Amino acid sequence: MSYLAKNYNRKKISFKYGKGSFLYSKDNKKYLDFVQGIAVNSLGHAHPKLVKAINNQSKKLWHVSNAFQIPEGEKLAKKICQKTFADYVMFQNSGAEATEAAIKVARRYFYFIGKPHKNRILCVKNSFHGRTIAAIFASGSKKMTEGFGPKVSGFDHFSFGDHRSLKKKITKNTAAIMVEPIMGEGGINVIPDFCLKELRKLCNKKKILLILDEVQCGISRSGDFFAFEQSKVKPDIVPIAKGIGGGFPIGAILMNKKVAAGMTPGTHGSTFGGNPLAMAVGNTVMDIVSTKQFLNNVKKSSKYFLSNLNKLKEKYPKIIKEIRGRGLLIGIQLYKDQTNFIKKLMDNKLLTIRAADQVVRVLPPLNVKKKEIDQALKIINKVCAELK
Ligand SMILES: *Cc1c(COP(=O)(O)O)cnc(C)c1O
Repeated sequence: MSYLAKNYNRKKISFKYGKGSFLYSKDNKKYLDFVQGIAVNSLGHAHPKLVKAINNQSKKLWHVSNAFQIPEGEKLAKKICQKTFADYVMFQNSGAEATEAAIKVARRYFYFIGKPHKNRILCVKNSFHGRTIAAIFASGSKKMTEGFGPKVSGFDHFSFGDHRSLKKKITKNTAAIMVEPIMGEGGINVIPDFCLKELRKLCNKKKILLILDEVQCGISRSGDFFAFEQSKVKPDIVPIAKGIGGGFPIGAILMNKKVAAGMTPGTHGSTFGGNPLAMAVGNTVMDIVSTKQFLNNVKKSSKYFLSNLNKLKEKYPKIIKEIRGRGLLIGIQLYKDQTNFIKKLMDNKLLTIRAADQVVRVLPPLNVKKKEIDQALKIINKVCAELK
C-alpha cells in the first residue's frame, strides 16, 4: 500500500540511479530515458559538473534569506541578462510560481503607471502554465479546473491559431497576452515565427505586454537558448523553470526594465527562491547549455533525429500522423491513442511521455549522443513494425 496521494497514475517502475541518457531500474534493467523528468534534466542524469557544483556548494552554504545579498544569484542573473532580452531576473522554485509571478509583474506594471483597470491576461485555450489555482484558470482547460472553483477571474482565452478570435478578445482591460512559443503539454504545437512577430506587433499597437512561457521550451531545448529567438521578437516577460536547474528545482521570471519598474521592495518574494545551493547548480547549467557550440550540437542532434523520425513516418504512414517540434522538444503524433505505443516503447526500454493530441513526447537530454538517438530510432521502428 502506498501512502502517497493518488493524484498520479504512476507506472510500476522505480529507478536506482541514472547516468547521462540512461536510467537503471530496481530490477537491474537499463532504460534509455527520453523523458528526463519532462525536459528538466538538460544534461542527463548525474552530470559530473553538476554533481561537483552541488557537492562543493553543499559544504559551504545551502540557504540564506533573500533579506541578504546572494552573490551566486547575482552571478546567474547577470549571465541570463547578458545572454537574453532581459534586464532583471527574479528567482523562484518552479514553473507555476514563475508563470504566476509573470502575471503579477504584468498587472503590477499597469497599476504602477496608473492604469490598474488593465489587469486581464489573454491565454491560449488548453495551454499549460502550471497547477496552482491561478495557473490552472490561466490554462483554460476544463479537465484541469474541474472541481477547483470558484473560478479565478482575470483570464480570457482564444484558440491556438485563431487570429481573429485573438484580436477580438483584446479589450481595454487586457494587460498581457501569455503564450508558450512551443506548447509542451498541449501536444508540441510550435507557434510559427511570423505569428510571434505579428503577436509582438499587435501587443505594441494595443500597448499591452507579451509574456512568453518558456518553462518547457526554453534553456536551449529548442536549439536556441529561447524558442522565440528565431523570430527575433523581444518579449516583456519570460517565465522559465524546468531546464535551468538540470534536475534541481529552480524557476525564474525574466523581464525588461519597463515592467520591472513596478516590482518595488515588498511586491514579491519567495523563501527558497534563488538560494545559494540552487544558484550554484543553475550557474553550472547555464555555463554549459548557453554556449554557441552546445547550441549547435543541439541543432545537429535535432536535425538528425527529426529527419529520421520523418523517414519512419513515411515508412509507417498509417501509424505516425506527424512529427512535430523543434530542437529536442519532439512530438510523434499518432493516428490512435498513444498509451499502448508508449507502453510498447517502455517494454523495449525506451522511456517517453504523452502530450495532448495523441502525441508521444520525446525529450532526450540536450547532450544526447548520436548512437543513443540511433538506439531510440531502432526501438520506435520496432514498435511501429509490431503495430502495423
Ligand atoms: C511544466 C510547465 C509549467 C509548470 O511548471 P511546474 O514546475 O510544474 O510548476 C508551466 N508552464 C509550462 C509551459 C510548462 O511546461
